[in-house]
Amino acid sequence: MFDVIVIGAGPAGVVAAIRTADLGAKTALIARDEFGGMAANDGPVPVRTLAHAARLIREARQLGLYGITVGEPVLDYPRLLARVREIVNDVRAHSAFRGQIDSLGVTVCERAGAARFADPHSIETESGLRFEAKKVIICTGGVSRRLSVPGFELTATHSDAWALTSVPPSMLVIGGGATGAQVASIFNAFGSRVQLFQAGRRILPTEDEDVSAAVASAFRKSGIVVRENFGEIEYFEKTASGVRMIFAKDGARDSAEAALAVVAVGWVANVAGLSLATAGVETNQRGFVGVDAYLRTSAPHIFAAGDITGRLLLVPEAIHDGFVAATNAVRGATMTLEDRVSPIGSFTDPEYAQVGLTEAKAREKYDVLTAMVRFDSTTRTIIDGRTAGFCKLIVDRATYKILGCHVVGERAIEITQVAAIAIAAGMRVDELAHVPLSFPTYAGILGRVAASATRQLNLKMGWQEDQAESFRG
Ligand SMILES: Cc1cc2nc3c(=O)[nH]c(=O)nc-3n(C[C@H](O)[C@H](O)[C@H](O)COP(=O)(O)OP(=O)(O)OC[C@H]3O[C@@H](n4cnc5c(N)ncnc54)[C@H](O)[C@@H]3O)c2cc1C
Repeated sequence: MFDVIVIGAGPAGVVAAIRTADLGAKTALIARDEFGGMAANDGPVPVRTLAHAARLIREARQLGLYGITVGEPVLDYPRLLARVREIVNDVRAHSAFRGQIDSLGVTVCERAGAARFADPHSIETESGLRFEAKKVIICTGGVSRRLSVPGFELTATHSDAWALTSVPPSMLVIGGGATGAQVASIFNAFGSRVQLFQAGRRILPTEDEDVSAAVASAFRKSGIVVRENFGEIEYFEKTASGVRMIFAKDGARDSAEAALAVVAVGWVANVAGLSLATAGVETNQRGFVGVDAYLRTSAPHIFAAGDITGRLLLVPEAIHDGFVAATNAVRGATMTLEDRVSPIGSFTDPEYAQVGLTEAKAREKYDVLTAMVRFDSTTRTIIDGRTAGFCKLIVDRATYKILGCHVVGERAIEITQVAAIAIAAGMRVDELAHVPLSFPTYAGILGRVAASATRQLNLKMGWQEDQAESFRG
């Protein structure tokens, strides 16, 4: 009998297994398929690789501006997919986690097929393995939400993009959240005629309003047709060259068609086939596994971590969850989840990223000051010909603490990391304004925006900082 069985080898499961073994527990890690989970095999790593290819195309188009003559870039999609596979394998081969897991003596069952509870302490896999454990940690992640409309089987998910042999000439992307926006942006760069459909009034609804507006406007400028508030889908039907979506709004029927329709309308817990009821594990109203502050499920010896719990669906959160669940599984309920700074970003064109509160959320609780600096006024972005975008800082007028940072434009995600460190360190905005940042850099815009907020708050700026204004960013 094992002390702990971890089901699922994504970031949450791998970290959970390392932590339990490190605490001396005899641990087994059961993975349905490859080690690394969606993060390595089907999510951030492949998407980032495709996004990098899209970036190279737009950089190639800029070469003429700098006196370099080459032809129009031509994409060889099968070659790009081969590169994606190489990179996924390379990342997996270099995973520091793999070495740690092996050296800690964790029993790893890779490609074991789906696991399920045979009884509250026994796990069986499709490949015929059976194990028993005192504690279980469920880390099986999530899957794309399916719509119950006729013809849904004619649609694809982001994962199907890896199986395409060529770029579809046209694409409907249904869902304007992070995944839909990335699919739309990447395939638009690859030459697909993309229409992006969003049910709500704005794409990227969890971002700051200014970010949604800027990204929607940039998407439109780049040729993507963005349709917010488009109505309700009635059905999908096959056409000679692809698929048609029939939808209705205010009683009026409309349709759109393309070679491929990709649906990205949310993420649901991957619980199918786990036989959770056998183990007494309940799901919540949203269909995710319900957990308490210690990541215990409704069955006290079973924990859950990562996307399966339906909180922030991100790799750093999954890792943190895995650590907390594992600690509590071995030591008893001793550790709760910290309220952490969670930077989020997407590799669209333009990139966007955020950390902390949006302006609307901040205004619910604080007396707020905002400062914004546009990319067309900072040196590095002008040098690089990347002048579209902005950096916005949200500050609490009472404490001068930074509540949020929102960036649209080149290197938005990297800029936001610096803001995340400032927020995590509890820095006041005037303290950030005094930090010397290299010139000319993308991150330098943070110094500019912090200086702007500091002045608006009538806080003291040193002479040096004031004079150095034009050498920031
Ligand atoms: C397109 C896309 C892009 C993303 N980009 C980012 C990004 O840029 N940054 C970021 O932080 N996050 C990103 N995410 C989210 C991130 O990938 C997830 O939050 C993260 O992978 C969750 O980790 P996890 O361990 O909970 O689950 P997963 O990584 O989903 O791992 C779950 C594992 O469980 C296995 N499994 C499932 N069922 C069973 C079963 N019955 N038995 C055994 N094993 C099972 C699966 O095979 C899988 O290996 C992205 C997601 C998507 C879809």
